[in-house]
Amino acid sequence: MAQEGITRYETAGGARIYRLPVQVFPALRAYVHLVIADDYVALVDTGSGQGSSDADLRDGMARIRDEWDEAVDWTDIDRIVLTHAHIDHHGGLNFVRSLTPAPLAVHELDRRVIVNHEERLTLTRFRLGVFLRRAGVDDARRTRMLAMYSGAKHSVRSMPVDDVLRDGDMLDGVFRVIHVPGHCPGQVCLQIDDILLTADHVLPNFSLFLSPESLTASNGVDHFLLSLRKVAALSDVRLGLGGHDRPVLDLGAAVAKIEATQRQHIERVYQACARPSTIAELTARLYPFVRDYDELLALQKVGAYVEYLDQRGMLAVANLAEVAEDDAAAPRYLAV
Ligand SMILES: [Zn+2]
Ligand SMILES: [Zn+2]
Repeated sequence: MAQEGITRYETAGGARIYRLPVQVFPALRAYVHLVIADDYVALVDTGSGQGSSDADLRDGMARIRDEWDEAVDWTDIDRIVLTHAHIDHHGGLNFVRSLTPAPLAVHELDRRVIVNHEERLTLTRFRLGVFLRRAGVDDARRTRMLAMYSGAKHSVRSMPVDDVLRDGDMLDGVFRVIHVPGHCPGQVCLQIDDILLTADHVLPNFSLFLSPESLTASNGVDHFLLSLRKVAALSDVRLGLGGHDRPVLDLGAAVAKIEATQRQHIERVYQACARPSTIAELTARLYPFVRDYDELLALQKVGAYVEYLDQRGMLAVANLAEVAEDDAAAPRYLAV
């Protein structure tokens, strides 16, 4: 059970936004948002469906009704919107679907993860296997990591999506859709008047998951940085509410902080390539204490920075002849 209370915000246009904490994983808190504009009610994200997440969501809805005197029941919900198709935001869909038939909207690039989850899982697992081999992860560790990857996502069932979102859309006359790929292909920020639901895009105090574009199209450091510029250009945002982390009171300052952190990550990886290294060796050196699922995430993150540097001609492959001859060889990157 998430101990943190519910917070209520009001937009310049009078819409109410309730921020509900849910414990999505043992060590990760996320926020689901309930948006009420006149008699329109939308649920933004659904938690993970794991641990106490569903119960936290159900209790949070009851508290909004009882403590804040909002006449909202599950059957009053007009819309479910997903900010992006990561399990900590869409894993609670099965539970939510059992309580409301409200139409579901998600960005077009994340739609497949929801409507064809099993297929996506299999294909991503395959691509992840190729990535890990090329990163220099040995067979035994790779098998263990792939089993861990699928195990965490098998509880989710596919579900129809009613509406797809695209950049610039006005959903239901309430949400302005801003497509921000990088962390997830179909991630969107949703603007309601002067408040921006920033999803996992603007989280200045949070270690963000990034993976290479070669593993997932529209992901990667390049897309992420461009998407940061995109939200920094919004001039009419007073408050940002993310899927994790504290509320953002100064969007420009938060973006600048994230950009500075990203530049540090890029520089660290570049410096670590002073001697020829595989992505696995770089990860072991830069993140010596990560284990299990966190290690899999760290490998993808280092892979994303290597890709960013490589795209800019800042790295050379020191063992090119070996890579050319042997499909199983892992490139060793050297700073140039
Ligand atoms: Zn995410
Ligand atoms: Zn998240």
